[in-house]
Amino acid sequence: MRFEDQRKNLVLELRQAGISDERVLNAFLKVPREMFVLPQFRDYAYQNRPLPINAQQTISQPLMIAIMLQLLELQPGDSVLEIGTGSGYQSALLAEIVSEVCSVEVIESLSLSAQKALRSEGYKNIYFRIGDGHSGWQKAYPVRKEFPRIIVSAAADSIPKGLTDQLAEKGIMAIPVGGSGLQELHIIRRQQGNLEITLAGGCSFVPLVYSKTS
Ligand code: SAH
Repeated sequence: MRFEDQRKNLVLELRQAGISDERVLNAFLKVPREMFVLPQFRDYAYQNRPLPINAQQTISQPLMIAIMLQLLELQPGDSVLEIGTGSGYQSALLAEIVSEVCSVEVIESLSLSAQKALRSEGYKNIYFRIGDGHSGWQKAYPVRKEFPRIIVSAAADSIPKGLTDQLAEKGIMAIPVGGSGLQELHIIRRQQGNLEITLAGGCSFVPLVYSKTS
């Protein structure tokens, strides 16, 4: 089956699993996941599962990404902070929906290959920082102090203050929290200065590592 048809089937599968945000579904229809997986896994690109990428990391499961993007209630004008660029696939999905994506990755080689893939797919509204995402977006272009939406694609042992500090008023952050193996997806909203946390189900992500360099 052609990749395009496989992509349509994946979107159908996401719909059946309860994803109803048309902006999110549309993004999945547009982004070629096969361009973000390792060449030897291209035939599996549209199976609803995570796949290995370089540096012992994984490209997230499509349904898990869709759930997080739907819970974020993304608006076209949003600027989104993404922690864990990884393959760049989720950055591309975000870039289809919102006006600006600021993406942080701690492993330089992964960031560089994601940047290459995203450039060759023509994305111009994604900015990159190589460093530890616990501290969010700093010493990077464009200068941003806070974001209306933040998405973390790796599991934190606790909610990083560096990230909640960058969550704008009325902003929403999606972050898996917990130890290795199984974690709980946390949805955090900033309302009149306070942080309101809701739990949105179990999930399994690679750990958000601490880096000394930044
Ligand atoms: N959404 C990405 C997920 C990649 S997996 C995709 O679909 O491809 C999570 C990524 O988070 C990995 O690339 C890992 O290197 C990165 N990561 C782990 N700890 C980090 C940290 N402290 N700061 C930034 N990125 C981190």
